[in-house]
Amino acid sequence: MLLSHVLVVGASAAGLATAEALRRKGYEGRLTLLGGELHPPYDRPPLSKQVLAGARSPDTVRLRTSDVLDAELLLGDPAVGLDPRTRTVRTASGRELSADAVVVATGLRPRTLPGAQDTAGVHVLRTLDDALALRSDLLVARRAVVVGEGVLGSEIAATARSMGLDVTLAGPRPAPMLAQLGPLAAGLLAELHTGNGVRLRLGGAVAGLEAAGGRVTGVRLGTGEVLPADVVAVAIGAEPATGWLAGSGLRVDDGLVCDSRCRAAEGIYAVGDVAAWHHELLDTTMRLENRTNATEQAIVVADNILGADRPYVPVPYFWTDQFDARIQAHGRPGPDAEATVVDGDLAGGRFVLRYARDGRVTGVLGWNMPRQARLRRPEIGGPVPSLEPSAP
Ligand SMILES: Cc1cc2nc3c(=O)[nH]c(=O)nc-3n(C[C@H](O)[C@H](O)[C@H](O)COP(=O)(O)OP(=O)(O)OC[C@H]3O[C@@H](n4cnc5c(N)ncnc54)[C@H](O)[C@@H]3O)c2cc1C
Repeated sequence: MLLSHVLVVGASAAGLATAEALRRKGYEGRLTLLGGELHPPYDRPPLSKQVLAGARSPDTVRLRTSDVLDAELLLGDPAVGLDPRTRTVRTASGRELSADAVVVATGLRPRTLPGAQDTAGVHVLRTLDDALALRSDLLVARRAVVVGEGVLGSEIAATARSMGLDVTLAGPRPAPMLAQLGPLAAGLLAELHTGNGVRLRLGGAVAGLEAAGGRVTGVRLGTGEVLPADVVAVAIGAEPATGWLAGSGLRVDDGLVCDSRCRAAEGIYAVGDVAAWHHELLDTTMRLENRTNATEQAIVVADNILGADRPYVPVPYFWTDQFDARIQAHGRPGPDAEATVVDGDLAGGRFVLRYARDGRVTGVLGWNMPRQARLRRPEIGGPVPSLEPSAP
């Protein structure tokens, strides 16, 4: 196919990385990046950490758009519809943009609790504006409740506590990040939080918000108990931002469903948090919500737009920073695998866990041991080594 215009919908990590990869690989045609937000592309991981804490200003999280990118950046004009047959995208302002290839990179929309929109002091955290709004409320608050014990909720709780607030973390699972890390590491994370003064109210349902005069006053648990709060951060997950694809005929099922080449239809691709693609090696349709995936998938999508026939078969990877712990997770270190310490030691706060199930390594987790964890990454997918190499 002759390629003269590529349109990327979603001007953030994955969309920008796709555009940059296209240029690096020699694409010289027209390139358009359409973004729903007014901000130029920026990086999200610092939002729940340094930006929330005030250690980094908003201008430092801007993603570099290199001079050679030579793309038209249309900001503050969300896509509202797509005709896959003509590859035409309609925008909120009435633009109609047609291209030879359309890349869907619209990420996620956070879920929230009923009534949150009309209640002052209740926040979600997905965008830079969300982070700044939450920060300004944290600065004048005394008590914060974070709802949701996943990665984002645990990070917000750690940051808010580091800012000196009285912080409670509430959520249905019995330990922070249990679903991502399994019981051993999640138990250690629980100790890290409580050791730093975060109150954990985990393992039970959250029923809703309490408010007075339009402002939040607390979070009601399933037991009826109310956790008092001046500010509440809701981090209960997010949904792929695919509403604008309704009526397009494309298959949407927890993300834009794609083949193993990240292609949803002829000339239509998906990348980043929004993409549900077929992982050939694992033989399953999956979606990843992490920063490294946004970059790695973009490279494969750019290749395929340019005529390659590459399946996307990554080893998933994410990191999180909480208090003095930098945790790096390669593969799938989930609760369904058995975790064993293979480097360092738990008491010293520096170690590597290997996760295994049915005799095969499923994941590796580094806790303040990035290099050692990375060195063990090639073990993932293979049989559990019977003899340990001597520690480097
Ligand atoms: C607070 C926070 C902290 C994080 N920390 C970590 C971390 O420590 N480690 C890690 O690995 N990952 C982390 N992540 C995840 C990581 O940031 C994401 O995986 C990454 O941003 C995904 O990039 P993306 O481009 O697919 O989606 P996004 O970054 O969500 O970008 C999607 C863009 O599309 C735009 N958009 C949506 N709908 C439309 C539309 N209809 N038309 C046009 N534009 C639209 C959105 O406004 C947005 O700008 C974090 C995420 C958040 C929110």
